[in-house]
Amino acid sequence: MNKDNLIDGNAVAKSIHEELTRELAGLNAPRKPCVAFIRVGEDPASVSYVKKKQSVSEAIGMESKLFVLPEETGQEELNALIDSLNADDSVDAMLIQAPLPKQLDERATFNRVRADKDVDGFSSANLGLLCQENKNAFVACTPAGIVELLKRSGVQTAGKRAVVIGRSLIVGKPLALLLMQKGLDATVTVAHSKSENLAEICSQADILIAAVGRPKTVTADMVKEGACVIDVGINRIPCAEKKSGYRLVGDVDFDAVAPKCSKITPVPGGVGPMTVAILMRNTLAAFKRHMGK
Ligand code: NAD
Repeated sequence: MNKDNLIDGNAVAKSIHEELTRELAGLNAPRKPCVAFIRVGEDPASVSYVKKKQSVSEAIGMESKLFVLPEETGQEELNALIDSLNADDSVDAMLIQAPLPKQLDERATFNRVRADKDVDGFSSANLGLLCQENKNAFVACTPAGIVELLKRSGVQTAGKRAVVIGRSLIVGKPLALLLMQKGLDATVTVAHSKSENLAEICSQADILIAAVGRPKTVTADMVKEGACVIDVGINRIPCAEKKSGYRLVGDVDFDAVAPKCSKITPVPGGVGPMTVAILMRNTLAAFKRHMGK
């Protein structure tokens, strides 16, 4: 494995930010796109994700609003905020940072966001449109970001065997739907916590995508020589040398797996920045719809 095989998510995301900035400037719109972020509680990862998303949105010329609700917020209170943002014509896009505290119903919360503002693509309306391969679907940012990374890195998907480990609503499920769509045309297998013979399933993959949330789920013996490996996992492991006391690793045993791969994403700096870039792309798309552009 040499550096050419490393997929640089930061660089790809940066070029998307530049494209969006140019497109936005060329729109000559009467106002800026506006994205509202809702965070419930002080989960440190959520704090840092929302901060990042907000800073990128402002850097590319969008407006943002941040709503922070206390950990003990009830469903009615959260619903009231969502309803008011749904009704606010100056807000184009809404993002509710997951995971939500236990007393809140994530599915009901995501479904409450108006489909044309649901830039996270988690509502049943947008997931339904995705199933229908409807171009108006807002597609979940991480899966759409992975597809964009594959495309821009020249990874062929048509006819190839893709294995997705993980079946969540946020990553695994929409990603499998995207990869099997006409145009991408991969043959997709979804593995999960109850899958038997995970190593054997993975070893057949031309494109192997891990979205599990457990370090070293993918080891070298599970990877076919020449495969493309996409590591979605973000895991914090203790690290005395770091000021924060932890470092981030993915789901893939990177050092052992990388030498076998044609391409591989690092953690951090792989899929993560793409999630933010696609959120911006979706927000611009929502804005254009609202402006009739
Ligand atoms: P999740 O907990 O909702 O889903 C994890 C999935 O992994 C489940 O479908 C489960 O069946 C499967 N799984 C668990 N143990 C397994 C095992 N031993 N073998 C096979 N499958 C197993 O998590 P999620 O929201 O999909 O996130 C997965 C990981 O991706 C997390 O580390 C999360 O932080 C990360 N993530 C990263 C980004 C990003 O932008 N890079 C975005 C979303 C999630």
